Amino acid sequence: MSGRTHARVCPERTCVGCRERAAKSELLRIVVVEGECVPDPRGTLPGRGAYVHPAPACLALAVRRRAFPRAFRGRAPLDTTALSQFVEQATP
Ligand SMILES: [Zn+2]
Repeated sequence: MSGRTHARVCPERTCVGCRERAAKSELLRIVVVEGECVPDPRGTLPGRGAYVHPAPACLALAVRRRAFPRAFRGRAPLDTTALSQFVEQATP
């Protein structure tokens, strides 16, 4: 038996901000709705998702790196206003 058995139990995703892998449950799922990045904390919205730590630092990094347009293969710049507000509220 190797130590690989854990991996399946706890799905990991990469934060598009700091690029670190983390458990899916620790990251905030983000989807694009009509050119706007919207938080999907319950993971219920359809479509392609990107994951980021729900922290202003990671969000800022993701925006600076243009990680969202890349993640969503969008050509137009994506509005992250709603997302910033959500993260600020989520952070004590
Ligand atoms: Zn991060």
